[in-house]
Amino acid sequence: MNPDTLKCPYCQTSVRRDTHVCPGCQAFLRYGAPDAAYGLAVIAGAAAGFISDMKLPSSLAWISWPVGLMVLAGAGVLIRRLYRHHVEIRRAGETWR
Ligand SMILES: [Zn+2]
Repeated sequence: MNPDTLKCPYCQTSVRRDTHVCPGCQAFLRYGAPDAAYGLAVIAGAAAGFISDMKLPSSLAWISWPVGLMVLAGAGVLIRRLYRHHVEIRRAGETWR
């Protein structure tokens, strides 16, 4: 299969990778990481900040902020890399995961 095309799971039409609507059935194509993945990055950053806040003595508690932000940034980069070639196809009316 040509790497520049995808097969629509609904109507089996070949769809070019840069299009956003399937020409066969009008399903929507969405590229990149789903919003839920970025939500997880935010949760991971908040959790890392919270945990370091608990573990550190109160005089060093400010460090939990840069720790949380670094985890958030790292998770964001990782997610973008993992989902670099990810495409989701949804028919109109279906909600995004
Ligand atoms: Zn289709």
